[in-house]
Amino acid sequence: TKFVIVSGGVISGIGKGIIASSTGMLLETLGLTVTAIKIDPYLNIDAGTLSPLDHGEVFTLDDGGEVDLDLGNYERYLDVTLTRDNNITTGKIYRSVIERERKGDYLGKTVQVVPHITNEVQDWVERVAKVPTSKNGLTPDVCIIELGGTVGDIESAPFVEAMRQFHNRVGSENFCLIHVSLIPVVGAVGEQKTKPTQSSVRDLRGLGLSPDILACRSAQPFEQGIREKLSMFCQVPEKNVFSVHDCSSLYHVPILLKDQGLLDVLTEKLQLGKLEIPAQLA
Ligand code: ADP
Repeated sequence: TKFVIVSGGVISGIGKGIIASSTGMLLETLGLTVTAIKIDPYLNIDAGTLSPLDHGEVFTLDDGGEVDLDLGNYERYLDVTLTRDNNITTGKIYRSVIERERKGDYLGKTVQVVPHITNEVQDWVERVAKVPTSKNGLTPDVCIIELGGTVGDIESAPFVEAMRQFHNRVGSENFCLIHVSLIPVVGAVGEQKTKPTQSSVRDLRGLGLSPDILACRSAQPFEQGIREKLSMFCQVPEKNVFSVHDCSSLYHVPILLKDQGLLDVLTEKLQLGKLEIPAQLA
């Protein structure tokens, strides 16, 4: 299985979920079977106990799982049926590790965030990524993992560390990191600013992860020179820097990404050409 990890920088709520869903949808146009996992770094076991005023509506899955709205995006964009296991929360991970500790699974060991929590996250992701969620019933070729929260948060730190280790576990040709960031427009001149993105990429690198792709949210398309500047300061090739400006419809986002060559970049990074696609899907 190939993994596309979507992290967020600068602030939350900038459209990470839409970019993750759109990426999955584009991969499906290649005939690939795609599934998704959403990581929510809160201690609630699930979204069922969250106020809609606090966190948006709860989305209920076919198996009764009460989860984040983003899983609804995934079901619509990817035409999949997800289960409660496709939503990882800090609460679920800790519960599982604590239950195992009580059973004596780690007998004699000091149970710690690293390696016990981080291993649990990686094992969970590996297990759930193999579960068929598409109508074709096939084992997924690609799993999109959306990391909720913002890189640098205390809450998301164990998950970021788990993903850093996961990169080593699955290898570079199976791991692609899309970092979603914000390009604000500031001041009377109305200039697009790249500094917040530069800082968030620096934070990410400090935690041992390097972005393969930058997806930059802004009100308007990139101004002259912005892509070059981001490429130079963030050490990402220009063709891997994507402008995801505000659209009148969210269903335009996949087209926006496709037109800027996202599938070529993903195909090259994840060596998708080597995957065997059943004739009826190609
Ligand atoms: P996150 O996952 O980062 O919290 P979401 O994907 O849920 O963010 O998106 C946050 C909000 O931004 C949603 O209400 C969504 O409709 C809106 N949004 C996302 N991308 C775009 C876009 N390209 N144009 C306009 N609105 C967008």
